[in-house]
Amino acid sequence: MEIERSSQHIYPDEEINRYEGQAIEELKANSQIAIPDPDEWLDDDLKQNILLTTVDWVLNFARRSSPWVSLCFPACCAFEFISAMGPRFDISRFGMEILRASPRQADLMITAGTLTYKHAPNIRRIYNQMPEPKWVIAMGACAVSGGIFRSGYNVVPGYNRIIPVDVYIPGCPPRPEGLIQGIQMLQEKIAKIKNFA
Ligand code: SF4
Repeated sequence: MEIERSSQHIYPDEEINRYEGQAIEELKANSQIAIPDPDEWLDDDLKQNILLTTVDWVLNFARRSSPWVSLCFPACCAFEFISAMGPRFDISRFGMEILRASPRQADLMITAGTLTYKHAPNIRRIYNQMPEPKWVIAMGACAVSGGIFRSGYNVVPGYNRIIPVDVYIPGCPPRPEGLIQGIQMLQEKIAKIKNFA
């Protein structure tokens, strides 16, 4: 069935077409540049204010940057350690200028000196009193293997017979630079720890 067109339009078809064409042309003329993303500022803000890392990294960063040393200096290597603490070598650059008289407040034992079997139980007790996680640096030939006193009947041929050792620093005595390198090696080791494995 054919539908008859109404002859009672308000505007003639030509006029409607003209207005519609004008509107389209105007829109086209004003749409040549893309409208910027209204949330673009978010990207910059996020980049400037959010740091992505892992909990492991943060924990290890805090631990490796502030090892607190427990006292364990039974012989002459101790003087090189004391020298390392002075202004020339400035061990505090590594956040470890604090020596703790209480092992419960320390997480690093630096064994600077000869260990005898009479003294060994005390070293193990001090180590056991340190909270986890904890590390040990064997400083000097005596700490590593007994050194020049190794054949003595009363000398422990290395601290690793009594407690676990993480880093060994050779020398009799090692210079402060050697101790600093040993500390840096320990820091690299701490950085690799997986706390939530
Ligand atoms: S390694 Fe040498 S300097 Fe160090 S405690 Fe032994 S004998 Fe003394």
